[in-house]
Amino acid sequence: MSTDKKCGACSDKSCAAKGKRPNERDEDFKERQALSARMCRIQHKVMVLSGKGGVGKSTVAVNLAAALAAAGKQVGLLDIDIHGPSVPKMLHIEGAPVSSTDDTLHPVKVSIGDGAIHVMSIGLLLSARDDAVIWRGPRKYGVIKQFLKDVEWGELDYLVVDSPPGTGDEPLAVAQLIEKADGAVIVTTPQEVAVQDVRRCVVFCRQVSLPVLGVVENMSGFVCPKCGERSDIFGVGGGRAMAEEMDVPFLGAIPIEPAVVLSGDSGKPIVQSHPHSITAEAFGRIVRMLLEPQPAGHHGKPECH
Ligand code: ADP
Repeated sequence: MSTDKKCGACSDKSCAAKGKRPNERDEDFKERQALSARMCRIQHKVMVLSGKGGVGKSTVAVNLAAALAAAGKQVGLLDIDIHGPSVPKMLHIEGAPVSSTDDTLHPVKVSIGDGAIHVMSIGLLLSARDDAVIWRGPRKYGVIKQFLKDVEWGELDYLVVDSPPGTGDEPLAVAQLIEKADGAVIVTTPQEVAVQDVRRCVVFCRQVSLPVLGVVENMSGFVCPKCGERSDIFGVGGGRAMAEEMDVPFLGAIPIEPAVVLSGDSGKPIVQSHPHSITAEAFGRIVRMLLEPQPAGHHGKPECH
């Protein structure tokens, strides 16, 4: 087999055309090339991570994807929270059929204004909504590889990946499989116990050479819809202080807003259902920061364009 074959999607010889690695089996080399061919057609890959569950990581992933789609970008959303996929519910596509051709799965398309998000989630492939998945590391790695390699993502500007909380097998698999991801958006709440977990996320990113795009402080204060008074239920500013301390960008704060829960439960991201809410505006600012060009030499530049 030729060792300088290009991936077929780009003209960059340094891409999948890096050639066969020493002792790499033909089968593994072919798989790696197929994965590169798929990933080369996606310009930006962004992982959404959190140190612990319940801080609003999926909410942030869904709303970032929706805000990017609303900004005219071609967007994919991959939910690899194998043990608790919540993206199908948040986008009202639970039970939506996933079509396939040969070995290729087609993502489910969710319209957002004039744009769309192309979604794939383990939750779409489970036969019953309440099915639990008990998989160990290697199996999870295989499934995540399939999601990246065998899903017909097409040409995308952004692929947003919603990872399970923590720094376990799933984010590690994505970090290893996507050779040059743009980086991670890390979601926290302001209280110290959550912020401590985020420090671990930042360390994880450094260990796997995944740039930290920035920290989002979710549930940052509550503005009473009746009286307009602001209460800092979980405190405020912990995420920003931690970002400064760890020398990573702070992307913004999102308040607690009851409409977020309603929109999550009813399947419409808040940036779509309440585009003028404080929360939607906060997401708009975060997306604008992400869309700003990265400084030269930034690791996250696309590998094949
Ligand atoms: P995680 O992915 O971190 O486990 P989720 O995104 O599933 O967290 O959010 C957990 C719950 O908190 C959901 O019911 C969601 O609607 C709610 N939630 C998340 N962010 C906010 C917010 N800013 N305001 C109000 N509720 C929120």
